[in-house]
Amino acid sequence: MEDFSGPTILLFCFIAMEFFAWLMHRFVMHGFLWTLHRDHHNKTSGFFERNDLFLILFAAPALLTGLAGWYAELPELLWACAGLSLYGTVYFWLHDIVIHRRLFRGAAPGNRYLRALRLAHHAHHRHLGRDNGECFGMLLVPWKYYRDAGSKSTPPSSRTGAINN
Ligand SMILES: [Zn+2]
Ligand SMILES: [Zn+2]
Repeated sequence: MEDFSGPTILLFCFIAMEFFAWLMHRFVMHGFLWTLHRDHHNKTSGFFERNDLFLILFAAPALLTGLAGWYAELPELLWACAGLSLYGTVYFWLHDIVIHRRLFRGAAPGNRYLRALRLAHHAHHRHLGRDNGECFGMLLVPWKYYRDAGSKSTPPSSRTGAINN
């Protein structure tokens, strides 16, 4: 494993997770586990959602990778664990705090990338059902939302559906 430095493994895992998260969201959460994801699209009262179970589900592989790396004394696995965990932390911060404002209701972000991120996720939440969704990813924002985020007028893609902010 001399060819791969720790930071390279971390970066690879971080980037790979965006694609893995897209696949999971598109085919699992909007597929056979829709029953757990439904209440994230159809907000009910209360702080917690069934959808929060995915937090544990997605944390498990990172935790197991870290434990395996620790016990087998394989630093490569520890770097992989760091990449997976970093992605999970960034995802949680962006999705639950910046977009859905679950912990505090701050001002809307002034940063164009963060505004584009919110527009794209709002577009995802316009679809209340399991099928015909869009924008299943998180960090990679389709260009049209980035463009809309830079314009002064309210673009069509910013009109929200059942999002709770
Ligand atoms: Zn969804
Ligand atoms: Zn959401």
